[in-house]
Amino acid sequence: MSDLKIAILGAGVIGLTTGLELQKEIKNANISIIADKFFKDTTSYVAAGVFRPGTSFCGPTDDITKKWITDSYYYWDDLRLTAHAANAGVTQVSGYIFSSTSPSITRNHYIEKLVPIYRAATEEELQLCPGDWKYGSFYTTVLTECGLYLPWAMMQFTKSGGKLIDYKLESFGDLSSEYDLIINCTGLGAKYLCNDHKVAPIRGQVFKVKAPWVKTFFYADYDTYIIPGFSSVTLGGCRQYDSYNLNIDKYDSLSIKERCEAFLPSLKGAEVVAERVGLRPHRDPVRIEKEIVNVNGKRLKIVHNYGHGGYGVTVAPGTSIYAVKLAKELLMGNSKL
Ligand SMILES: Cc1cc2nc3c(=O)[nH]c(=O)nc-3n(C[C@H](O)[C@H](O)[C@H](O)COP(=O)(O)OP(=O)(O)OC[C@H]3O[C@@H](n4cnc5c(N)ncnc54)[C@H](O)[C@@H]3O)c2cc1C
Repeated sequence: MSDLKIAILGAGVIGLTTGLELQKEIKNANISIIADKFFKDTTSYVAAGVFRPGTSFCGPTDDITKKWITDSYYYWDDLRLTAHAANAGVTQVSGYIFSSTSPSITRNHYIEKLVPIYRAATEEELQLCPGDWKYGSFYTTVLTECGLYLPWAMMQFTKSGGKLIDYKLESFGDLSSEYDLIINCTGLGAKYLCNDHKVAPIRGQVFKVKAPWVKTFFYADYDTYIIPGFSSVTLGGCRQYDSYNLNIDKYDSLSIKERCEAFLPSLKGAEVVAERVGLRPHRDPVRIEKEIVNVNGKRLKIVHNYGHGGYGVTVAPGTSIYAVKLAKELLMGNSKL
């Protein structure tokens, strides 16, 4: 019996995590990842990688969304406890979220009972950083640095027989009809590939600085964040809806620097290692569903897995597990399975 042939479109955190999950779940498949951008050219590479779903993040139902988040947290936390953690870029981090405007900003109903610590900041803690901080929370979570995770995941994938193909699809019709199934993890690219107008970019810009003395993450009002990673600290940021600008914007740079240095004055003079821009692939709800399309007179089975917005690293495992479950349902009855 010949092997199943499956193509995953996209080599960001979603495509690669889906690839690893698929290899775990379907042993006799011949799996390729097809993408036109890898590693440093993906949006995933720009992410700070903190496990922190936005409170408005949503899948098709509340229960499914919660399952994605719960599965994801345990996946990352289990990986953190293995010998792979350092190479995969997974670690535990703790920090604060402060607000001078609203207590609700400092709460997160998705993770308050999931992560090991999530509590209100004390009066003393609200004084830790300059600013009129009225509300705050302290919590412990996981962080996945894509600068390490993406190459690690690519290596695991190819070591287990997966193939990486550098190719830009103009349409699903570009794919040879030999594939039994496609999993579409193209992020913002799905806007064009699927003609999906619900997908929109939310532009972000960050600095990466050398500040090894910063060990705690901080989120504050107006998209200000300081997040220590493995080799640098990420300073952000901004969220610009429907902006396609991939260039560094000097006004965003000035604003980010001013906000972060006012919040943590020890950052003044920290060496800048890089400035990066990424377009978060936003869709409400995230699209993870089955579809069978007619391509060149043949039925092509597709599972879509895109539109994770600002939370793709957070929920990559849970959404990949769900996408692979849908893939198995689509393949049910296939004699090669
Ligand atoms: C500044 C910033 C900070 C962030 N911080 C966090 C964070 O702390 N935590 C968190 O969870 N998330 C964070 N995110 C969000 C996260 O980066 C995204 O949700 C995630 O990267 C989306 O992953 P993806 O694999 O869907 O997309 P991408 O990484 O963009 O990958 C898409 C892939 O699809 C391929 N592709 C697209 N179209 C085609 C085509 N037609 N043919 C072939 N290949 C195609 C591309 O080549 C690429 O390989 C942040 C994002 C930004 C910009």
